[in-house]
Amino acid sequence: MQHSVYLTIHPIAIAHTPFSEKFSIPRQPGLAPAAIAKIELIPPYDEPLALEGLEQVSHVWLLFHFHGVPSTQSEHRLRVRPPRLGGNEKIGVFASRSTHRPNGIGQSLVKVERIEGSCLWVSGVDLLNGTPIIDIKPYVPYADCLASAYNHIAPDTPELIEVNWREGALHAAEQQSQRLQQEVIALIEQCLAQDPRPAYQKHQPEREYGAQFWDINVRWRYPTATSIEVINIVRVT
Ligand code: SAM
Repeated sequence: MQHSVYLTIHPIAIAHTPFSEKFSIPRQPGLAPAAIAKIELIPPYDEPLALEGLEQVSHVWLLFHFHGVPSTQSEHRLRVRPPRLGGNEKIGVFASRSTHRPNGIGQSLVKVERIEGSCLWVSGVDLLNGTPIIDIKPYVPYADCLASAYNHIAPDTPELIEVNWREGALHAAEQQSQRLQQEVIALIEQCLAQDPRPAYQKHQPEREYGAQFWDINVRWRYPTATSIEVINIVRVT
């Protein structure tokens, strides 16, 4: 029997996040607490009534669409290569949190910071700017937190690496922080400490890496295999 049920899903909100590109976004939520996002409800849900009660909740699940992954890249993929396993080993798509998955649906547990009208401010996001949110659900500790739970593929939080700053870069980051009224330094440190490099990439001390947060381009190098030096911060014009 062929199952041909087609669903139409409409976004209920848009996430405004600091992450202007995918590279350097943490691989799961909660790893960069300074990653603050505004979840802006869109019609017909853009009413404070839709958020009523959330002031009694510390965390919410965001269900969203991986809009930055072309759908052709995810079609009928049964196995994926998670970065956790070095990028070479494959596992079943349903054993991973890969962005390449049927229906392109992601889920992230984030902290509620505040509610302003029909906007919800949250922290610890791992979402690309502009991500369409398809649902928001309250975290329910007795059901969502299991003392007996395990995952042998991703047993612990990833190891952090050291992040240092060139003096000029730190000064520039402070200036951008004031201009944007955002925790620019903390966010860059928390994200780079996750080591955004693909696991299969060899240490190349001369190679320069870059990523855009808000409208700021951040450039860095790896002087050693386990440390980063932020070398430059430039506003993108
Ligand atoms: N926590 C979610 C989950 O488990 O479903 C997402 C996990 S996924 C491994 C996290 C990565 O997805 C981020 O590091 C970023 O590179 C990517 N990402 C985040 N938002 C995205 C979007 N809207 N479109 C495509 N990729 C996205």
